[in-house]
Amino acid sequence: MKIHILRCGEMRVSETVPFGNAISAANSLRQLADPDRKRVTLPVFCYLIEHPQGLLLVDAGWCRAISPDGVYDPAAVREVLPERLAAFYRPTLPAGEAIHEQLAARGLRPEDLDCVILTHLDADHVAGLCHLKGAKRIVLPEDEYFWSCRTVYKLRQPQSLWMDAPIERLYYRGAADAPNRWAVDLFGDESVLLVNVPGHTDGQAAVLLRRGGRFVLLAADAAFSPRNWREDITPGFGFDREQQRKSLRWIAQKADDPACAAVLCSHDAAVAPHTVEI
Ligand SMILES: [Zn+2]
Repeated sequence: MKIHILRCGEMRVSETVPFGNAISAANSLRQLADPDRKRVTLPVFCYLIEHPQGLLLVDAGWCRAISPDGVYDPAAVREVLPERLAAFYRPTLPAGEAIHEQLAARGLRPEDLDCVILTHLDADHVAGLCHLKGAKRIVLPEDEYFWSCRTVYKLRQPQSLWMDAPIERLYYRGAADAPNRWAVDLFGDESVLLVNVPGHTDGQAAVLLRRGGRFVLLAADAAFSPRNWREDITPGFGFDREQQRKSLRWIAQKADDPACAAVLCSHDAAVAPHTVEI
């Protein structure tokens, strides 16, 4: 199984987003108002997976409309995102990094994707869905969809970015090895598990890929960097800190497992696009 890490743009967010260590009004305010010098540029990663059952994509990154010329364009951002989210994210999508552009560079069309897995509905993970029309399946945990009508999520997850996509909702079921004991076994062979890692959102899934006695864990936004679980620092953007810590403890266990080939976070600034094979 090959896991290609694709950089689908970036975001310039408050330094409290990855390492705020609290979900607080002060952090929320900083995330909207911090000046540029208190912000960090984080990548937005998607993952293209060559799996025996077909070609999988995890998340969709930003859309071209947010950055038409490949540079930071505040007016274009506000056409796509509400004012608060535009201030939070300050996104850029350099030329060639939109998901459909990267697929085309590999000679692929959206129709060639057997399954697009959405880890959760935050804008930086679903804006690029508009470029994936024709993908055979698009799946999302039902629990993430269920809570998306809650006010706090409405502010975070504009429905315009994902409501029109033919999203198939998958139900978490009991699983022994998961922070919340909830997971979806996508193909029924434990080769692709969507493991509920709540805290950042209630329904968020990490994706655990198994092959030949080894595994790779795509941690989504349960962690922004290994620093989160190694130093016990929770990200400052989320919904429930206790759940965040529980998810981080599970990720730390996975990272320590000798069978672990990699734990990858969606916004780890220390990671460059590369391919992991298991
Ligand atoms: Zn994210």
